[in-house]
Amino acid sequence: MIQYKVAIVGAGPAGYFTAQALQNASNHERSFAIDLIERLPTPWGLVRSGVAPDHPKIKTVAKVFEKVAADPNFRLFANVELGRDLELADLIDRYDAVVLCTGSTKGKKLGIPGEDLANSISAAEFVPWYNAHPDFADFNIDLSGKVAVVIGAGNVAMDCARMLAVEAHELDSTDTAEHALTKLHDSEIKKVFITARRGAEHAAFTSPELRDLPKLEHTDVYINQDDIDLAQTRAAAEAEIEKHVASNLEAMRLIAESTKSGNEKSMHFLFQHTPKEIVGSGKVEAVLFETPNGEVRIDCDLVITAIGYESVPYVGVEFEKGKIKNTDGRIGNSNVYTVGWAKRGPSGVIGTNKSDASDVVEILLSNLEHPKNLGDVTQLLNSDHLVVDQNYWQRINEAETKAGEAVGKPRIKGTTVASLLNLGGL
Ligand code: NAP
Repeated sequence: MIQYKVAIVGAGPAGYFTAQALQNASNHERSFAIDLIERLPTPWGLVRSGVAPDHPKIKTVAKVFEKVAADPNFRLFANVELGRDLELADLIDRYDAVVLCTGSTKGKKLGIPGEDLANSISAAEFVPWYNAHPDFADFNIDLSGKVAVVIGAGNVAMDCARMLAVEAHELDSTDTAEHALTKLHDSEIKKVFITARRGAEHAAFTSPELRDLPKLEHTDVYINQDDIDLAQTRAAAEAEIEKHVASNLEAMRLIAESTKSGNEKSMHFLFQHTPKEIVGSGKVEAVLFETPNGEVRIDCDLVITAIGYESVPYVGVEFEKGKIKNTDGRIGNSNVYTVGWAKRGPSGVIGTNKSDASDVVEILLSNLEHPKNLGDVTQLLNSDHLVVDQNYWQRINEAETKAGEAVGKPRIKGTTVASLLNLGGL
């Protein structure tokens, strides 16, 4: 039996699905010893710090991740950062293959005047803040105004808008970060605009997410019926309307026709609104949009940009257009591969990473030679380095879920590296 050693960097969905694909490729002739390296003390990536707290079903995929982790040939090395605690070159030397699943964490910028005004923030800050990502424990957002504008027409924009537009008590039974929950309870935001630069037929929302909106009990959601009719006409004039577009337009029509209950909180979709400038003296006061009917000004107190993400580059890898330069997941002719958003850019749902991982692992397998047997990550870490291994993580996980159970939540998350390490400490 030959055993290969594979290091995976990044314990999000792409990392776990890569480990799973390798486990599935084990047979009576070969097996894979997998070391999963993660910068934070907690694994699960976007399942923990991206998925909206009011969408808990999406997070059940974590059960799959924990099953992968239960394999005796799997080891977790969390609280270990590439570039800080060890170098990529050291991994390349020691492992038969290295797979980079480091995602894309930086919010894309609009590149318009006023973007850096106070209270003009990115979804790449807002989302991890309400999900208790330790990097955003001290993030400051001012929710004392009445109107928010979210820029972008994708599911992240919708998550951001919904988190602001539901009543905070609806989030009490979720795993929203405690600091965010407190702030959302004090929030004065009543009206949230979601703005798309193109017509409704081009929106990147997916229809299940749209179909959930009329079900909101304490939020009225508005879409202008004319916007849907015009989108339908334009789309039909171009070609046969694609299934997902038809489904989206139908879901939007249901929103347009939904009964409004006169709720204090509301969400408003605006199409063909291209942001031109964010105005304000020192702090956000309005956004100027170009529309088919000329310039439109929307007075607001908060702007959240949700227009996609890019990877933060690191040493030893070439990045291009916001992702790792690669061919079908392989980096040059090396034993280094990439899967997930770092490979293909920020697109697709969590499950997309499963097929992505399988495809890349197939290429990885075809390039394997004799096992190196040159050691592993344990040789690279200082003896006093506090590694969060699978047992340590399980203690954090249990402490969080136990604290949540007591108050009817799935978990209460630790919000800093120190508090997380403390939760799992013996
Ligand atoms: P996305 O789906 O790519 O949407 C980005 C949006 O930003 C698009 O509407 C795009 O409009 C707009 N945009 C880009 N540049 C812009 C600019 N300069 N000015 C104005 N608008 C601009 O990205 P995302 O929302 O970040 O989501 C990332 C991925 O995660 C997606 O695949 C999404 O479905 C997935 N996700 C899924 C869920 C879920 O299943 N519940 C939740 C969250 C995220 P154009 O089309 O005009 O470029």
